[in-house]
Amino acid sequence: MIAISANAKKAISELNKHGYETYLVGGCVRDMLMGIEPHDYDITTSASPDEMKEVFKNERVIETGIKHGTLTVIYDGEPIEITTYRIDGEYKDNRHPASVEFTRNLSDDLSRRDFTVNALAYNERDGIIDLFGGRSDIENHIIRAVGDAKTRFTEDALRIFRAARFSSTLGFEIEQETKKAMIECAHLLNNISAERINTELTKLLLGKNVKNAIIENYEVLGVLIPEYLKMKGFDQKNKWHIYDILTHTAVAVEASLKVPHIRLALLLHDTGKVHTFFTDENGVGHFWGHNEKSAEIARDFLNKYKYDNFTKDAVYSLVKIHDTPIQEDKGFIKKRLNRLGADRFFDLIEIQRADNKAQNPELVNLQRIDNIEKMAREIVREECFSLASLKVNGKDLISIGITEGKKIGYVLNALLDEVIEDKLKNEREELLKRAKEIK
Ligand code: ATP
Ligand code: MG
Repeated sequence: MIAISANAKKAISELNKHGYETYLVGGCVRDMLMGIEPHDYDITTSASPDEMKEVFKNERVIETGIKHGTLTVIYDGEPIEITTYRIDGEYKDNRHPASVEFTRNLSDDLSRRDFTVNALAYNERDGIIDLFGGRSDIENHIIRAVGDAKTRFTEDALRIFRAARFSSTLGFEIEQETKKAMIECAHLLNNISAERINTELTKLLLGKNVKNAIIENYEVLGVLIPEYLKMKGFDQKNKWHIYDILTHTAVAVEASLKVPHIRLALLLHDTGKVHTFFTDENGVGHFWGHNEKSAEIARDFLNKYKYDNFTKDAVYSLVKIHDTPIQEDKGFIKKRLNRLGADRFFDLIEIQRADNKAQNPELVNLQRIDNIEKMAREIVREECFSLASLKVNGKDLISIGITEGKKIGYVLNALLDEVIEDKLKNEREELLKRAKEIK
């Protein structure tokens, strides 16, 4: 078991000294048992909010969560969240309890928590408090709802997505009853706010077990992206593919860098295939225009789930161009770098690499992509591929008498084209000489 943060320990012993039961609870206990350093510490206590305020009256505290029983104590700049044992009241709208009630019983507080692995408490005096078998579920790598799964998912449907997310980040299997209830209640996710869902989806995408999490939770993903329901078992009927569309997508996501917009683009890249599939006279499957269709699906998804503008723009364009061929040719790469910008170009390379890794290994040539990336990195380091790196600018052209705005743009771009095609050196004197000829 990993040592507890000194500041969390101090807060716990302070409350204990005043006679209040106090424990670490939730994700941090789970992580400590798994040998993972927790990223934050949640503390739960029998002290009421007023009693907590009294105990910490000489410390710096933040009271914003006090209505829900949470006081944040700042020790050495580290915020420590402490929450009074709580019982959630009746749930309304599949997400929010209508009221919260404070209680003196730890067991009440633990039973409102979502999964057994998240319902453990710990302090040095009493050791681990495990009322729902969370410890053995951690050992056996199982996500299991606390209490009746269907009731718990109906109370708060976000828990359905959290189960899928934990199966990805922890690499655990979802227990059968819990799984069954997730599928039965999946439609309730429509009542959950966009922001909550996209936060959980990002965590799911970055998890170490994302491939299985996608494949096994396709019905849950299908509430967000209906195409997922058809992708499972969809035989692509061509030699490039050894997997159905769902498995291909899941393998591609897991093969890619852990970068949110890259993984989201891969999650969406082939969704259009279920709409564009046809077989030719030889029985070979084709998906003409699937990238455009996937991009449309991506755009609707990104808007509905309120992604930020950077993600919207990047994911939409990457999905749209995900399968445009890139030639292993310097001039071609420079033009693409110029058109897409270096960041987007390298994102595209990463997407194509992951996409290829999820195709028939006997037919793909990953070396080719590595070569293209290497060439592109050299170009970005050393060569000119954009107006910004051209050794003359608008002012220089004005100084040689090219003064009209449109003309300046035309000449600069013409010079850039010639430099990219290696017909002209990116050197000031030569560029100016050539500019005079072009004008
Ligand atoms: P992470 O490592 O991602 O922070 P976590 O388990 O700490 O995982 P949080 O979202 O930080 O997850 O929540 C802290 C704890 O609060 C959980 O461990 C769980 O006990 C409880 N919890 C959080 N969300 C819910 C929910 N929707 N329903 C029931 N309990 C929840
Ligand atoms: Mg947490």
